[in-house]
Amino acid sequence: MLDNLGDFKRDYFCGELTENNIGDEVRLLGWADSVRDHGGVIFINLRDKEGIVQIVIDPSKSPADAYEKAKRVRSEYVLAVKGRVNRRPAGTENPKLKTGNIEVAVEELKILNTCDILPFPIEDEINVSEEVRLKYRYLDIRRPKMLQNLILRHEVYQATREYLAGHGFLEVETPMLTKSTPEGARDFLVPSRLEHGKFYALPQSPQLFKQILMVAGIERYFQIVKCFRDEDLRKDRQPEFTQIDFEMSFVDEEDVIAISEGLVHYLFKKILGIEIQLPIKRITYKEAIEKYGTDKPDLRYGLELVDVTELAKEVEFKVFRSVAQSGGLVKGINIKGGAKLSRKEIDELTEYAQKFGAKGMAWIKINEDGSLQSPILKFFTDEQKEKLIQLMEGDKGDLLVFIADTPETTHRVLGFLRKHIAEKMNLIPEGKWEFVWVVDFPLLEWDEEENRLVALHHPFTSPKEEDIEKLDEAINNKELALSFKSRAYDLVLNGEEIAGGSIRIHRPDIQKKIFELIGISDEEAEERFGFLVNALKYGAPPHGGLAFGLDRLVALMTGSDSIREVIAFPKTQKGICPLTQAPDFVRQEQLEELGIEVELPQEEA
Ligand code: ASP
Repeated sequence: MLDNLGDFKRDYFCGELTENNIGDEVRLLGWADSVRDHGGVIFINLRDKEGIVQIVIDPSKSPADAYEKAKRVRSEYVLAVKGRVNRRPAGTENPKLKTGNIEVAVEELKILNTCDILPFPIEDEINVSEEVRLKYRYLDIRRPKMLQNLILRHEVYQATREYLAGHGFLEVETPMLTKSTPEGARDFLVPSRLEHGKFYALPQSPQLFKQILMVAGIERYFQIVKCFRDEDLRKDRQPEFTQIDFEMSFVDEEDVIAISEGLVHYLFKKILGIEIQLPIKRITYKEAIEKYGTDKPDLRYGLELVDVTELAKEVEFKVFRSVAQSGGLVKGINIKGGAKLSRKEIDELTEYAQKFGAKGMAWIKINEDGSLQSPILKFFTDEQKEKLIQLMEGDKGDLLVFIADTPETTHRVLGFLRKHIAEKMNLIPEGKWEFVWVVDFPLLEWDEEENRLVALHHPFTSPKEEDIEKLDEAINNKELALSFKSRAYDLVLNGEEIAGGSIRIHRPDIQKKIFELIGISDEEAEERFGFLVNALKYGAPPHGGLAFGLDRLVALMTGSDSIREVIAFPKTQKGICPLTQAPDFVRQEQLEELGIEVELPQEEA
């Protein structure tokens, strides 16, 4: 038999009660977090979103019917409790609980609902697959850590709105059913019922709309917005994710960077109580790649890449020499104290490098007695050995590792290896927040598969002003085109890209030239982006903006390994929602209305 809530109202949240409430009669609502029967006296930890308080049902003090009901209570039953707040008897305090010095002696107990046997306990440390957690997400979110993550996320929304609205930004919604925007990923498509054969696309970002809002004279726009990209979910991606998106008129890079820095400063201060040092340092794309092997450098630790290509050209060691002489790069990392790694551990590093495309990894151990140990040193003269150690700033106890390959492969492999080594050797300090702007990106890059130039960011990113007059010349000059830099900027935190944006092209003639450079014909440009180019013709102001990846930002702020930990209902790596079973088949009538015939894969047909 269950009780009705009736007109029962709570006076306090469980976690809000303090010693100041001692003597008060209080009414509470919540879930039975745990139930213990100590020789007839029943203790229940009652939990709501603010925390836990212990309630006590003592057969010698509480009414008989409350005691009878308490005996039936199991984990996660839903309860309404009226009782008096008492100080806990000396010696029974629980310092782990915020309310650990008090308890509530029950005078009335209602059981509002029962709960089936739980698939996992409602506590932070659980040993259960993510699939099960997502299937029972409503239980998973009852766990304190998950609840805290969602609360922090909520605080990020609120503080973002405060900050941006406070700086004259207007929150404007843009459509979810729209035409495809070119962020470079595959679109999710939504068939039109009214016009068979036509599709809306879910936006990869509000990019075109926010630019059009600038043409519309909004001047400062922002939105906390869902974006959709039908990408393979390798790494930590989600098919739908959230951005803090904004755009500003009559600005240059410095204005956008200043607002972005102001916003992260505000969020970290207000939510985490952390003071970020402004201005955030900047490094060029070139320097990031050369020193860290990635455009998302983690600056919390050293392990910088050292170029030894010049020396490698001279040595007898063929792998080094041939790579160095044929336009490749030979670069190394000095793993301080790495000489203690065993042969097996070094082999493991080699295998790791190979996973990212390296053919092998050369290494030199500098033993504690100063002697060198390495399979490659027989191909070096003494002088060359000395020079190499000097270039690498090698010292006793260090391990030097090298990759020799094309510049792209050398950088990519060492970029990953650097991170792996830092994790393995515990070189990443706790509690450090290393922000860095990456600037001066190339405007274009060469797409081997498509055999054409593509925009490194998106095709609406402005080239540097000094390159604009060279655009015509670059149409038939790939080298020149690849030398152009863009007015884009990315914000990186602890090795993760948390935001990116650019100053845009606001002149239709320049926009057309960029389309031409990346091989988008006039007709295609007209068909796909005609509405934007058209808008630019009607007095488009110079403008630029940026978008933060909100999920990633919140994941970092909460110390979560994955963005799935900070999204209420995320999808699995396979794009499935275990809670709802989406995506799913639909009824035949639904397909017919849309004029769609589906060919099922063999095994499901
Ligand atoms: N729309 C861009 C993106 O989603 C961000 C920007 O350029 O503002 O990556």
